[in-house]
Amino acid sequence: MDPMPDDSTGARPAPGKANLLGMPRAALREFVLGLGEKPFRADQLMRWIHQRGVDDFAQMTDMGKALRARLAECAEIRPPEVVSWHDAADGCRKWVIRVSGGSCVETVYIPEKHRGTLCVSSQVGCTLDCSFCSTGKQGFQRDLDAAEIIGQVWLAARSLGSFADGATRHITNVVMMGMGEPLLNFDNVVAATDIMLDDFAYGLSKRRVTLSTAGVVPMLKRLGEVSQVSLALSLHAPNDALRDELVPLNRRYPIREVLQACREYWAAQSDSHRVTTVEYTLIDGINDRPEQARELARLLADFPCKINLIPFNPFPGSEYRRPPEAAVRRFQEILAQAGYTATVRTTRGDAIDAACGQLVGQVADRTRRNQRYRQAAPVIASSLHPLEPGR
Ligand code: SF4
Repeated sequence: MDPMPDDSTGARPAPGKANLLGMPRAALREFVLGLGEKPFRADQLMRWIHQRGVDDFAQMTDMGKALRARLAECAEIRPPEVVSWHDAADGCRKWVIRVSGGSCVETVYIPEKHRGTLCVSSQVGCTLDCSFCSTGKQGFQRDLDAAEIIGQVWLAARSLGSFADGATRHITNVVMMGMGEPLLNFDNVVAATDIMLDDFAYGLSKRRVTLSTAGVVPMLKRLGEVSQVSLALSLHAPNDALRDELVPLNRRYPIREVLQACREYWAAQSDSHRVTTVEYTLIDGINDRPEQARELARLLADFPCKINLIPFNPFPGSEYRRPPEAAVRRFQEILAQAGYTATVRTTRGDAIDAACGQLVGQVADRTRRNQRYRQAAPVIASSLHPLEPGR
């Protein structure tokens, strides 16, 4: 674990000052118009903040001194605070980020040969309590605001050297797959993703910004009206009975309704041929059997998608186990034979607990779920695996 060097900028909100970091360009234009300035000032601010990583108005030298002084009086550029970062041998980097209120969320960078993916959190904890998810066991505190969401991208870009070296784009993809259900923090997530896509900010392609949801049906419908980001669906089960157990939200929005909402999301897009990424966490003996692969193939027969299989990452107190390699391959082969593009996610960042489902953070839990879980976990574990102590 590396301490943050002294360029850590986490700071308390300044009373009465607007934080410009989380403002999409339309909001920033409203803000500068309110100061009696021309709309193009918003474009300049976007570039300074999100392309050059500047958080001090005094450095914005293409604006007059009077305007810079005015901005410093009424506004600020305030990211959340990096507490520490952790580097894994495979190049992954995880930041522990403290947000106002004192809780921490985690952001993870996963470099690959031709891209660099940043996994961003949207909430402090999560209300949905999926049974296989480490974050879900932490309970829930609050939504992140837009500045705290885009601030993760800003901090990561600065930490990776993207601002200093404008020629290197380290972050080519962003996935909203960290802590939280993005669609339950709708306005802040849409504002932050708007900034990710904006050519005056990060300029990421809509195909490279992915929102992952457990399937909040009414919000999926709203999303189609205001956003063009790519969509990933956390499915994890081939039928409602099992998904009710793994993803409790399914009891409110069953699979058929969720798949239909995804179809309608794409139908609302100009390039409606894009497909949903279906995420399926494979859990030993729970949802990894050949007949379940065949059932999944039947379920998705008329649903345009690609499938991402994620071998479960065990975490302390978890009652589930990772499936054997052979079971993962067999599951993948059945889907491939049925005509699906099915990839197995390589586990990255294990050494820093940055793999999928391992983002824990430190949540001041308003639901007390964390406490209940910690009390119950040993009992659950021993009752499920009585013959295999220590697994
Ligand atoms: S899997 Fe996603 S939606 Fe489910 S509890 Fe974890 S963070 Fe929340």
